[in-house]
Amino acid sequence: MIFDSHMHTEVSADSAMKAADALERAAKLGVGAVFTEHEDMDFPGEKDFTFSPEDYWKKYEALRGEGERLRLGVELGMQEGLAEKNRAFVKKAPFDQVIGSIHTLLGFDLYYETLYEGREKDEVYRLYLRAMASCVRSHGAFIDILAHIDYIARYAAYRDAELTYAVYGEEIDEVLAALIETDTVLELNTRRFDAPQGKASLVPIFRRYRELGGREVTLGSDAHDACAVAFAFCEAQDLAESLGLRIVTFFDRRKEYC
Ligand SMILES: [Zn+2]
Ligand SMILES: [Zn+2]
Repeated sequence: MIFDSHMHTEVSADSAMKAADALERAAKLGVGAVFTEHEDMDFPGEKDFTFSPEDYWKKYEALRGEGERLRLGVELGMQEGLAEKNRAFVKKAPFDQVIGSIHTLLGFDLYYETLYEGREKDEVYRLYLRAMASCVRSHGAFIDILAHIDYIARYAAYRDAELTYAVYGEEIDEVLAALIETDTVLELNTRRFDAPQGKASLVPIFRRYRELGGREVTLGSDAHDACAVAFAFCEAQDLAESLGLRIVTFFDRRKEYC
């Protein structure tokens, strides 16, 4: 069964999605679900993007059962200085799957304009990708997946926010090399499949991933609402197949082929 390996329920500070709604939607679509709640330590701003792994487990353990349709994971916010704290966090619960993500840069939340004001796109994007490569190396031993390589393009306040391989190939190669060296799977995140350019920008990146030795991807909608569960998965499956990439997910930290 295909799993949507990236979504957030109300345990995450920025989501109100109920577990039951997510599971109902997933069942209707014939996919499994992995909850991947936000654990972003030292996050800039007011909101607390952390959670108690013990409470999370108590809340959802019965729903998870033997993991047939639901697995319990975490999306860790990676920052250079956080590797040891993040490593310790992962040990606090028997997570099925651990995702690593870059949500911040230079002490700013990538979501807000402040980071982009007065800075050139080139400078910011290259720093973003270098931070990502470096964090994959420092976190690679205890994460399974790198999420949304194009996250910055969702929010960056530039006229053309696309993360294109043609321009940032050198830095993207560094990220891909780090993934392959640390045996970390690259997520095909479907959030930006709602715009033709969003998907088009990902194609050369995933093609290059395959060329450099990448063989597997997870599919993730990053749903914060039940309507978005498994968004554009049909297109994403076709894309993975056309590039010779196998779709996997994780159960009890072990890779499973979908
Ligand atoms: Zn994320
Ligand atoms: Zn997410």
